[in-house]
Amino acid sequence: MINAVANWKLNGSASFCHDWFDEFNASFHGDPSAVAIAPPAIYIPLCNELKKNNLNICAQNLDYSTEAARTGEISLEMLKDMDCSMSIIGHSERRNIFGETSEIIRNKLEKVASHTFTSIYCIGESLAEYDSGKSLEAIKNQLDNELLALNRNIKLYIAYEPIWAIGSGKLPSTQEIESMHGFINDTISLYENINVLGILYGGSVSVGNSQELSESELIDGVLVGGASLNGKSFAKIASSFDKV
Ligand code: PEP
Repeated sequence: MINAVANWKLNGSASFCHDWFDEFNASFHGDPSAVAIAPPAIYIPLCNELKKNNLNICAQNLDYSTEAARTGEISLEMLKDMDCSMSIIGHSERRNIFGETSEIIRNKLEKVASHTFTSIYCIGESLAEYDSGKSLEAIKNQLDNELLALNRNIKLYIAYEPIWAIGSGKLPSTQEIESMHGFINDTISLYENINVLGILYGGSVSVGNSQELSESELIDGVLVGGASLNGKSFAKIASSFDKV
């Protein structure tokens, strides 16, 4: 069971990776198999060398195709070849900056479903949807269009990441997160093809709020952006969720 995922986004360098693992390895004493680090893809081999245990190295994205004429993309097969068997899929930055549609996300999930590979599938409502009381509707639309419409059975993690909470320092109350996770669970329980391994929360998770989040039975773990860039801070956050 994965309960803490670090999303480094477009941060990092070779020396950053060395420093980060020095700090993380010195501070984290929990179960490394419950933790995943998603560096920029080019650093996946280096992170695999530096991790020293069965911590998971995760991609931030993958291509669903194996056609050669797709300049700039990285396939699932290539990730597996680099000892990476997990990827974030459908992060809101991929949707909003790179124009990933529900169809593209479905193609990626279908690709993952046909391999031994784990996906951390992200969903979340915009600020306008949240402010107008349309969060449940927005989430239901994403789930219906991207999971219910899948042609395959799949086991996955879902990361609920309200877009307005990402990088903003603002997050929903724990009760709001719990009620959304309950709604996601209820919705998915009606989909025969989906097996949810856990529901993670993402958006402005920090050392200061991770303990409270970890105490909720409805929050299985966290996806962390900014606060994951410091190996020591991320070790503290991951330790809050460590149930060993
Ligand atoms: C993210 O980008 O997935 C994220 C949750 O970022 P942050 O923790 O910085 O809000």
